Amino acid sequence: MKPISAKHARFCLEYMRDGNAAAAYRRSGYAVKNADVNACRLMKRDDVKVLIVELRQEVSVNLKLTAQDIINKLTDIAFADAAELAQIKVLPCKFCETDGPIRDQQPDPTCRECDGLGRYTVYYADTRYLSRRGKALFAGVEQTRSGVKLRLHNSMKALDMLVRIYFGR
Ligand SMILES: [Zn+2]
Repeated sequence: MKPISAKHARFCLEYMRDGNAAAAYRRSGYAVKNADVNACRLMKRDDVKVLIVELRQEVSVNLKLTAQDIINKLTDIAFADAAELAQIKVLPCKFCETDGPIRDQQPDPTCRECDGLGRYTVYYADTRYLSRRGKALFAGVEQTRSGVKLRLHNSMKALDMLVRIYFGR
C-alpha cells in the first residue's frame, strides 16, 4: 500500500477530534461542497481506515498510561510515611544522667529536671535521599518568620481519590 497522502492523514487526525467525517473533511481544507458524500468516500479508503485504527489504538494506550500515572502518584502520596520527612526525637535533657552514643540516649527516668520526659527535637530529613513515596508526599518548604515549615501533600485526600477510582464512591 502506498503511504497515505498528507491531506488524507490530516483528514484522519481531524476525524479523531470529534468522529464527524463531514466536519473533519471541511477542516482538512477541502471544498465545503458535498462534504458529506466526499467524506464518506474518504472513510472507505483502506489507507484512511488503517490510519484511523492506528490513531485510536494510540489514543487508548495514552489514556491508559495517563490513568495509570495518576493512580501511581496518588498511591505514592496515600501510602507515604510522613515520618520519613520529619521526625520528633525525644532526647535526654541536659540534666539527665546518660551514657553511650548520643543517638541511642534516652531520657533518664530519675531526672528531677525533666521528670524523665527529656526534651524533644524536630529533625527534617535530607530530601535528596527520600524514597519515591517520600518524595511524592513532599510538597516543598516555606520559609516563615519562625523557621522552616514543611509542606506535605494531603495523603488522606489521595486515599479518598483512590477509593473513588476503585470503588466508585
Ligand atoms: Zn532530664
